[in-house]
Amino acid sequence: MLLRMSTLFLRTLREDPADAEVPSHRLLVRAGYIRRVAPGIYSWLPLGKIMLENVSRIVREEMDRIGGQEVLFPALLPREFFELTGRWTEYGANVFRLKDRRGGDYLLGPTHEEMFTDLVKGEYSSYKDLPVILYQVQTKYRDEARPRAGILRGREFVMKDSYSFDLDEAGLAKSYELHRQAYVRMFARLGLDYVIVSAMSGAMGGSASEEFLAPAPTGEDSYVACRACGYAANVEAMRTSVPAAPSGEHPSVPAAPSGEHPPVTVLDTPATATIETLVDRLNSMSLGRVFSAADTLKNVVLKTRFPGQRDWEPLVVGVPGDREVDLKRLEAALAPAEVAVFEAEDFAAHPALVRGYIGPAALAEARIRYLVDPRVAPGTAWVTGADAPGRHVANLVVGRDFTPDGVIEAAEVRAGDPCPECGAAVSINRGIEIGHIFQLGYKYADAAGLDVLGPDGKPTRVIMGSYGVGVSRAIAAVAEQSHDEKGLRWPRGIAPLDVHIVATGKDEAVFSSAEQIAVELERAGLRVLLDDRRATSPGVKFNDSELLGMPTILVVGRGLATGVVELRDRASGRVTQVGLAEAVPRVVAACRVADATG
Ligand code: ATP
Ligand code: MG
Repeated sequence: MLLRMSTLFLRTLREDPADAEVPSHRLLVRAGYIRRVAPGIYSWLPLGKIMLENVSRIVREEMDRIGGQEVLFPALLPREFFELTGRWTEYGANVFRLKDRRGGDYLLGPTHEEMFTDLVKGEYSSYKDLPVILYQVQTKYRDEARPRAGILRGREFVMKDSYSFDLDEAGLAKSYELHRQAYVRMFARLGLDYVIVSAMSGAMGGSASEEFLAPAPTGEDSYVACRACGYAANVEAMRTSVPAAPSGEHPSVPAAPSGEHPPVTVLDTPATATIETLVDRLNSMSLGRVFSAADTLKNVVLKTRFPGQRDWEPLVVGVPGDREVDLKRLEAALAPAEVAVFEAEDFAAHPALVRGYIGPAALAEARIRYLVDPRVAPGTAWVTGADAPGRHVANLVVGRDFTPDGVIEAAEVRAGDPCPECGAAVSINRGIEIGHIFQLGYKYADAAGLDVLGPDGKPTRVIMGSYGVGVSRAIAAVAEQSHDEKGLRWPRGIAPLDVHIVATGKDEAVFSSAEQIAVELERAGLRVLLDDRRATSPGVKFNDSELLGMPTILVVGRGLATGVVELRDRASGRVTQVGLAEAVPRVVAACRVADATG
């Protein structure tokens, strides 16, 4: 491939687009890879389109290597398939719905579990047909609440989705492992730095699930990592580690013989609607011990609603007073239900809830759903609201004095929290979700009645996995990880072209030499971009070459008079003078070395 800047459909921009907040968005637009059409909807220009093809090719090669077979579904899908699993409703506002001329309901596929399940059900009938892995590289549609950062979170985007069909759990575990290995190879070839973290099963329903996250400060996902034992989890899936049996050692349990707590006492605590004022007040009351925020039980009121439900329902989440409720964790725990803040008018409709002094007693009485953090474990004692203005209760023991409706992982996770595996302090980092592998189990097979005849002649339910890669998002993720203030710095595997030849000056010899080198490099199998523009200044050309980000830049200019050209490595910035005769083999070698490792 040989592209010439004089004719390439490309106009780089000097200014950042006004709506761009993150580097990948800024640079991909400025460098002319993508152009915005509407929020979260982008067109791919020639260099961007080449990248999309590069990523797709690598993804396909690794899927084929594990025996995946490619198919292609339409994006426009009739409602009935999604009715069967309840997802027509469950998807809520996230799905684009439309009607045909006869009034029939359709949607633009946000993901394709239902379609693949139905396809396999139609074609296969015997245990001898399994296992099978099917995949597609296809455009998906999601009406994201917050489309963001260009192609990082689009409303139209390209995904590789694959689905495995097996006879039993052991088979599923194998298909899952194959995908894991395929992803490891894919992301390495794309030049992505990534971590594999435990993930929530979310709306999909199922068991084992892991995400591939590309660490980047601009990532929307947070994950915990433990350096001591290697545990890594999306913050949404982080399990709170609770000290074993309640005893005087638990921070919220005052030292009392054999974990016994004094009876509940009501305290007069005027004007203590915040945790801070409450703790100050407690410590000024000579109660015989020092209190901290972690000794108080904060009851946070929210409201939730299941997709398809009309009315919101109040929900109270009890967390230790030194922690906030993390809305993302809460949403993940309650998915597919939505969560919203409890507004003043909601409080007005629930007079039993005394703001700032809410306690378990009123919640039980009003039958308001009450879920608590795992640290609020049976046998632990707390200071919490007494359901009356200016009053709290102390020594309120879980299991003895109140029983919550359940436990929920929704409290914020902090750096330094104990690792659930080994107890060491975890760190918190940000990342971009680039892939997700998921043991679905029987959810979709159950909904569709996907059985095959087993060896014993009896119908056997098929067990499934689903696996996604953000193909378009991967380009943005690489850009987030590989750029500098001047522009993009593509790793070789994903780069649209291998080498960018910059011809500078007015001398005709420069242009003919550059042209000759370009042709030879192309003949050697490299993908070449040649800046052959005549009226463009060297400064502009250099800036463009740095903005566009090809891994190798070859400058043919003034040095040519003495038989030298300049080889620049975009990633390291290293510059080498090379004799004209060596130019072609040197560039080929630079590109090949990286090929072998990538
Ligand atoms: P997110 O949590 O980022 O919304 P998700 O968990 O909903 O993603 P999946 O359903 O697991 O996404 O989709 C598989 C892959 O598709 C993701 O790992 C991600 O790389 C990609 N992806 C999902 N949503 C988008 C989007 N709006 N734009 C671009 N890529 C996306
Ligand atoms: Mg996901």
